[in-house]
Amino acid sequence: MSRERKALIIRAQRMWSADKGLEKNVELVVQEDRISEIRPASNAGCTVKSSVIDLTDATLVPGLIDCHVHLGVDAARMMDCLVRDTTALIGFRAADDARRCLLAGFTTLRAMEGRGGYAVALRDAILEGYVEGPRILASGRYIQGTGGHADMFVPAECNHIDFGAINVNGADEARKAVRENIFRGADFLKLVATGGVLSAGDEPTTIQMSQAEIEAAVEEAKAANKTVAVHAHACKGVKISAKAGVTSIEHATYADEEALQLMRAKSVYLVPTFLVSDEIASRARNGKLEKHTLRKIEGTHEKSLWVFKKAKEMGVRIAFGTDLCFHDSFGTNARELELMVEAGMDEGEALTSVTQTAANCLGLQDHIGTLSEGKVADIVAFPGNPLQNIAATRQPLLVIACGRVVLNRAA
Ligand SMILES: [Zn+2]
Repeated sequence: MSRERKALIIRAQRMWSADKGLEKNVELVVQEDRISEIRPASNAGCTVKSSVIDLTDATLVPGLIDCHVHLGVDAARMMDCLVRDTTALIGFRAADDARRCLLAGFTTLRAMEGRGGYAVALRDAILEGYVEGPRILASGRYIQGTGGHADMFVPAECNHIDFGAINVNGADEARKAVRENIFRGADFLKLVATGGVLSAGDEPTTIQMSQAEIEAAVEEAKAANKTVAVHAHACKGVKISAKAGVTSIEHATYADEEALQLMRAKSVYLVPTFLVSDEIASRARNGKLEKHTLRKIEGTHEKSLWVFKKAKEMGVRIAFGTDLCFHDSFGTNARELELMVEAGMDEGEALTSVTQTAANCLGLQDHIGTLSEGKVADIVAFPGNPLQNIAATRQPLLVIACGRVVLNRAA
């Protein structure tokens, strides 16, 4: 005998969705994993066929989406993670990181994986119901030139250890790396086009992949209907990636106006990642990270701020991403919203970035990112009105993922 799950009615004084704006006194009806109806709130209690969550002074928003996280690898103790921790242990830590994001209202994560296939496995374990967690899109291994950003965390003598990257030299190798990742279950591809901040021995201002390599990778990814995210700080890295037609550029710290014009012309998303820079800067100033990080992070905030403001003014689409990589910071993802508002977005724009724009960036706009009838029931409630006080997003009252209540502080 098959038994239908009871319908769930969620009632609140406010509902916000980027396609509708703010609506007052609404109730959402959830059937199975979908939003079946959105209607004016009634005072009817629950019936045998439904249960009701009545939140009163709260705002319902679509489940939040973080387009850039590093689950499992704790950058606070990077050497230990890379040299001592087993891939299995990293996988368990990734599950803990992901679950804390979910409880903070992030029902979808785009995970930049690293080694060993653990993010692909975690995605599948969550889908199978073995562990509780958000929807995960996994990158597979980073694709980079030999000696690139992902290689630069340990001395070259340790290069027999698997750091999670596929090193490519030449367009054919880039093509092969994309095919390998897709074969191993990647949802999208992550390319490393330039040096980085946390990595020793390279500079964020230099490029590490050629235009031909990036173009070949993008062509191959597109042939398989996969999107491409590119780590790029250096301006030239942003330009060659945008020209190649990648999906999103992460950081884009040293982009100039011409680079942003290219991004707009090619409909490339900018993923700014203020939160990780903030975390790195404070940890580096307290002597908690290697010395070179302090030198590299100084001055980047002003650059990133300029890029963010200019991109917004020029109409480049900005998708929310934190780049969280410190184990104890998972679950604080929404602080990025506060940093985006500080940097010049209004609250509605920041919420659009973390819902509708992020869903578009991930190619999931038909399923998530707005509260509409027929869409997946990923729903979060924040106390009061986050459109007036973005800090209200720090702690959700309610989190529903695929129609299932995973957190209810109102109960
Ligand atoms: Zn990253």
